Amino acid sequence: MAETLPKILVVDDIAANLVAMRTLLTKLHAEVLVATTGNDALALALEHELAMILLDINMPGMDGFEVAEWLRGEDQTREVPIIFVTAAYKDHSHRLQGYHVGAIDYIEKPVDGRILRSKVSVLLELYRRKQELKRANSALSERSILLQATMDNIRHGLGMFDAELCLQAWNERFFDYPGYPMALAKQGTPLSEFLRIHEQRKEVVRKVVDRLADQVMPWRFDWPLANGRTMDVKTNPMPGGGVVIALTDVTDQRRDEVAIREHASRLAAVNATAHDAIVTIDRFGKVREWNPAAERMFGYTAKEMRGRSLRRIMPGRFLPEHEQGVQRYVQRRESEVVGKTVERIGLRQDGREFPIELSLAAWGEPGNPFFTAIMRDVTERKSQEELLVQMNQRLADSLAELQKHHNELVLLSRMNERLQGCATMEEAVRVLEESLQELFKGLDGVVLLEEGEGYGLAGRWGGDTDGAFPPSTCMVAEGWQLAASHREGCRLHWEESGGCCCLPLWEQGKVFGFLHLHERAEGADGRFDRHSGLMSTVREAIELSLANLRMRERLKDQAVRDVLTGLFNRRYLDETLPRELSRAARAQQPLSVAMVDVDHFKRFNDTFGHDAGDAVLREVARLLRDRLRKSDIACRYGGEEMTVVLPGLEILAARERMERIRQELQALQVAHAGVALGTITVSIGIAEFPRHGNQMEELLRKADAALYLAKQSGRNRVLLAE
Ligand code: GH3
Ligand code: MG
Ligand code: MG
Repeated sequence: MAETLPKILVVDDIAANLVAMRTLLTKLHAEVLVATTGNDALALALEHELAMILLDINMPGMDGFEVAEWLRGEDQTREVPIIFVTAAYKDHSHRLQGYHVGAIDYIEKPVDGRILRSKVSVLLELYRRKQELKRANSALSERSILLQATMDNIRHGLGMFDAELCLQAWNERFFDYPGYPMALAKQGTPLSEFLRIHEQRKEVVRKVVDRLADQVMPWRFDWPLANGRTMDVKTNPMPGGGVVIALTDVTDQRRDEVAIREHASRLAAVNATAHDAIVTIDRFGKVREWNPAAERMFGYTAKEMRGRSLRRIMPGRFLPEHEQGVQRYVQRRESEVVGKTVERIGLRQDGREFPIELSLAAWGEPGNPFFTAIMRDVTERKSQEELLVQMNQRLADSLAELQKHHNELVLLSRMNERLQGCATMEEAVRVLEESLQELFKGLDGVVLLEEGEGYGLAGRWGGDTDGAFPPSTCMVAEGWQLAASHREGCRLHWEESGGCCCLPLWEQGKVFGFLHLHERAEGADGRFDRHSGLMSTVREAIELSLANLRMRERLKDQAVRDVLTGLFNRRYLDETLPRELSRAARAQQPLSVAMVDVDHFKRFNDTFGHDAGDAVLREVARLLRDRLRKSDIACRYGGEEMTVVLPGLEILAARERMERIRQELQALQVAHAGVALGTITVSIGIAEFPRHGNQMEELLRKADAALYLAKQSGRNRVLLAE
């Protein structure tokens, strides 16, 4: 910015003087303003900021003295230096008057150019200095306003003391503390005043003074107040001597610091005494904390572990998951473990793995988290739990076993009861079929009973209906013949997979039947093992019941059968024939009765002995049994006379049947004790129901009559009743 030139006002009523003055002042680096009257001069002085005024005294109208007085009366112009320039008023009294109205100099005309220039130069220099000072002052006051504003706006109390330790500047906070007299808040109050006012301050001020003397600066200390608050006092030396004292209320800060310290030591105490391992890692997976319990649990000291990765205490197979988990949490704050309690496997220094229960917490800044894990060795608990589970399982198993056993016993006793109620073997076998199917779930079976020389199928359940039985080595597949190896029962097959077993049924040293059980193909899962205990119980029960039935049947047989021939006896005939007759009557069916008598039987006795006679009788009986239907009934009527009841047969059909038997008998070569007995012939008489009678006696009599006729007419023939 171009510097504006200082302005000099020249006032003279004579134009020539003005020109002369302007010429004199041209080289002085100033702007020259001119006025020819006092009024013009006043107007210009108010309009411009002037460095000086060169003022003529003798002027028409308002003279120079009057103008000067006016200028002194105006604030704006009061300070402007005035030099009177005069020709007329050179005397002493005018000169005094000139000074009186405020002039600083008095120059006589004609003006000596050198003197004028020199005086004006000095004044101009003064003017410049004054201007500079003014600028500096305004800059300074701006600064101090800024300083005050700053001081008022900071949270510290600030007091500035000069080299003499007198208060120079402060903010309200400096006096904002308890017991501090605001009366002291004024410029120049010496620091020592604070000593008198307040005991607490005294101590502080003394300390500050002492420190100042020792030149130990800056310096700070805590100052506890009587009201329980704490001040932080900080002193800073100022460059030109003096000190700035800053007071800060740090009560809350100190309390927080104490709390943090307490918290830290509490944490340290917990860490040190905890039974659980407490381990902290940073986001790089490096160990930061490792407490004594962790040392005991894993066998590594804190010194060995600090700054190391956790890979040493973790089986290798879990490492990737662990490292990814940490990364995922750092990047996305996602975790399946943080905030939870989980079970993991730990690795001891000695290489042993053990189960741990781990609770994980994450803390710290979002981008810089830490993970603290609390770990507990749960080896003991685990094994207890396992033991408990095992014991529970065993208990459940035995209960199930007991229940099963109970159910089996119930079924078994029901089966026994039903078997007791059976009158015949057939009935008993039906009961077995039903009961065993229920008892041995998953097993099919058959009941084999003595039949002739071997064994025959008496009953069956489940399984294929075509009668094929699985194992070729078993007697079942060998035509039901009892092999030596099966005398104790065939257990061979169930020990192999999907097998079968034969349980022999004994009576008086003889096997009278078999219980044969085999697994269903789709259920081959070792059921035999499960059933083996039950099997022998069942076998014994069945054996007893069936043997009992056999005994009963034998006893019954003995009562109704003839011992020598095995045919039914006369008593049986007496019981049965009337029943057969009424059945035939109901069904409106015919029934024939044949009386058979061996011809000249007496001769066999006489010729070959009584035993040979018996043999002949047995031979005749056997032929009758073999050649008759199951529904026919053959009886020994007495001696060598036999009766045959043929239900459903008309007399002609009966004759045909009996004729064939007669012929077959005649063709037989019978020997006894190595001696041929010769030909056996019989005579037969037949009567038919209802043609020859409705009653047994009548029919038998008619048949007997026919037999008599057969004998009479030459024997060895069949005759029909009339
Ligand atoms: P016919 O042709 O007339 O019938 O002559 P027969 O010899 O057969 O008849 P008879 O009634 O005269 O003889 C029957 C004989 O059978 C009499 C008796 O000693 C004999 N006898 C009866 N019961 C038995 C027996 O159980 N065993 C034996 N060996 N003989 C018997
Ligand atoms: Mg006879
Ligand atoms: Mg006879």
